[in-house]
Amino acid sequence: MSHGTFIAVEVSDDARQDAELAKKLEEACPVDIFKAGNGQVEIVEENLDECVLCRLCLDASPPGAVRVLKLYDGGAEL
Ligand code: SF4
Repeated sequence: MSHGTFIAVEVSDDARQDAELAKKLEEACPVDIFKAGNGQVEIVEENLDECVLCRLCLDASPPGAVRVLKLYDGGAEL
């Protein structure tokens, strides 16, 4: 689990190990919150609060694999 001040991004354990998904997420996110490193999904902590709530990461991944939580809104899920 990775937390910025305003946004948290959670990636399920299965999805985290998915090298192909890691590349898709890296390409999808306009503010570089995801990084494909060592065949795994990595979260770039310092970019978390740049999230523009565009949902592209959700569209690029299987249901439930990625969750974007709005911490400023009581942790509501995007
Ligand atoms: S909602 Fe958009 S900006 Fe936020 S993490 Fe997903 S792809 Fe990146």
